[in-house]
Amino acid sequence: SGILYVVATPIGNLEDMTYRAVRVLQEVDLIAAEDTRHSRKLLEHYGIKTPLISYHEHNEEQRAAQLIEKLQAGQSLALISDAGTPCIADPGYRLVFRCRAAGVTVAAVPGASALIAALSIAGLPTDAFRFVGFLPAKSHGRRQVLEQLKDEQQTVAFYEGPHRLQASLQDIADICGEDRLISVARELTKRHEELFGGTVAEALEHYAEGKVKGELVLLLGPAPPRKPQGTVKEELARLHAETDLT
Ligand code: SAM
Repeated sequence: SGILYVVATPIGNLEDMTYRAVRVLQEVDLIAAEDTRHSRKLLEHYGIKTPLISYHEHNEEQRAAQLIEKLQAGQSLALISDAGTPCIADPGYRLVFRCRAAGVTVAAVPGASALIAALSIAGLPTDAFRFVGFLPAKSHGRRQVLEQLKDEQQTVAFYEGPHRLQASLQDIADICGEDRLISVARELTKRHEELFGGTVAEALEHYAEGKVKGELVLLLGPAPPRKPQGTVKEELARLHAETDLT
């Protein structure tokens, strides 16, 4: 059977396309894209004339079956999303899962991802991190998620829309504390790229005025190590009880 290539495309700057991505997109029989109109423009830029078919969250199930038939008939396919790496907070994993189950080879053509780009320039710990995708749109849901994340000892990454930034920062301040470190990566690789780094309180101040525009990744620094609960004496007694010294 053919191969399904999962191909990363740029997150803004069209130069962030790999040579291999261009070649693979030229050579495959069909490209499955989230938004064919959006992707046609991208492909035109690189002179790629391969036909496009839509593949998005609303037609995933039905399309996956069709695409697997084509792959099993020997055609090769590429999967792309609107920007960055498919399947990372983007549609695709169901198709990949079904390909693997059907014995179809799936190959990565790696490249840009907003998540990794933001982590690479924020200056926060990245030896381990937690990615939680988009925060819920409504404050109540967002606060519930933040409650679960407030003691996280790893950097926590979110995707966020510009019109919700201020409200999300306020919820983060209320639940995780104003002194927590945060980075806001905006419009990465584009003309108005900006990386804000500071405390949550400073971020609130920085974005207090005016409309925030563009695409954003938020990175919340790790929580400070948990403090002992009681007095030193009580804490020692607790540690003593926990440790089998006999
Ligand atoms: N799969 C994509 C990836 O690998 O980057 C992410 C898809 S997700 C639906 C889109 C979100 O990624 C945006 O809402 C924004 O949070 C983030 N994003 C995409 N491009 C960005 C950029 N140039 N700068 C900052 N964030 C970006």
